[in-house]
Amino acid sequence: MKICVLPGDGIGREIVAQALRVLDKVAAKHGRSFETAEALIGGCAIDAVGVPLPADTVALCKDSDAVLLGAVGGPKWDTIDPAVRPEKGLLGIRKELKLFANLRPATLFKQLADACYLRPDIVARGLDVMVVRELTGGIYFGEPRFEGMKDGERFGSNTMCYHEHEIRRIARVAFEAARKRSGRVCSVDKANVLDVSRVWREVVIDEHAKNYKDIELTHMYVDNAAMQLVRDPSQFDVMVTGNLFGDILSDEAAAITGSIGMLPSASLGEANPGLYEPIHGSAPDIAGKDKANPLATILSVSMMLRHSFDMAVEADCIESAVQQALEQGYRTGDIMQPGCRLVGCVE
Ligand code: ATP
Ligand code: MG
Repeated sequence: MKICVLPGDGIGREIVAQALRVLDKVAAKHGRSFETAEALIGGCAIDAVGVPLPADTVALCKDSDAVLLGAVGGPKWDTIDPAVRPEKGLLGIRKELKLFANLRPATLFKQLADACYLRPDIVARGLDVMVVRELTGGIYFGEPRFEGMKDGERFGSNTMCYHEHEIRRIARVAFEAARKRSGRVCSVDKANVLDVSRVWREVVIDEHAKNYKDIELTHMYVDNAAMQLVRDPSQFDVMVTGNLFGDILSDEAAAITGSIGMLPSASLGEANPGLYEPIHGSAPDIAGKDKANPLATILSVSMMLRHSFDMAVEADCIESAVQQALEQGYRTGDIMQPGCRLVGCVE
């Protein structure tokens, strides 16, 4: 079992190092062995070889069973040519590995409930939502697209497109995820207005009828879904949606938990290795200060074990260790609460 490790920039190296310590422990405890190999991506790759995604890195990722990434970017590279920005490394590797499904669980750890933005009575109902976002299609990549002059004034347009096969494969990812959770999928679209959404809805219904009758399927318009997510997130288990709606809803779902340093993500393709990374960025303001919260990356390792290696027991072991650490009162600065113990750098 081979893991390609891409620490990247900023806090990336610090948090990945902690996540690998956890991986070692869990491997030793359960008699598993993982081979890890490190490669460059983002700003550190630009500094070393002049490009954000060296060919060696792509080759190593493709030769691995999973990829663990820290974060890329930082002010040092903000002023360079946009074509070689660190972020291009991340977009590039997603494309190379054909990662069409982005899974973002938004979980509120009960020990951190005080830090949640939602009302206490809503928090009491629980918050454990998985947003499954289509990552390689939709309005981000649809043709035709245009930016320029039309009828004597500036004009821009993009096109939201989905083929049946793209909808079917993301729907399958959502149904499979729901089977391992509470068995409910809410498909989010705008079928009252958009033709592409009507195709989306019909294909999701068809895939459900053919292969996933055991799952409870509902549909919601995206505007209502955005409202319901803050009104009562406990009504959702898995939400599946297209690229643009998913971008917005997954950030919203993450934000309501109130802890950017806690949330992991997985990006999955059909056969290629999955890529696992925290949802936060390289946090240049705290990089190198031993202040970063490593839990989002540690939980990304747990997602990796669950999705790429089918090791549910080991994944559960990491999640309960995170729970225990929180219960025992260990905190980094971003989630510090009265009466808790600050770990890492104490000023
Ligand atoms: P990107 O464009 O790469 O997503 P960003 O500008 O959105 O980056 P982040 O790097 O995610 O921003 O950081 C946003 C804020 O959250 C910063 O103040 C940062 O210090 C803080 N932050 C991010 N990740 C962590 C973490 N793991 N632990 C503690 N604080 C964090
Ligand atoms: Mg960001």
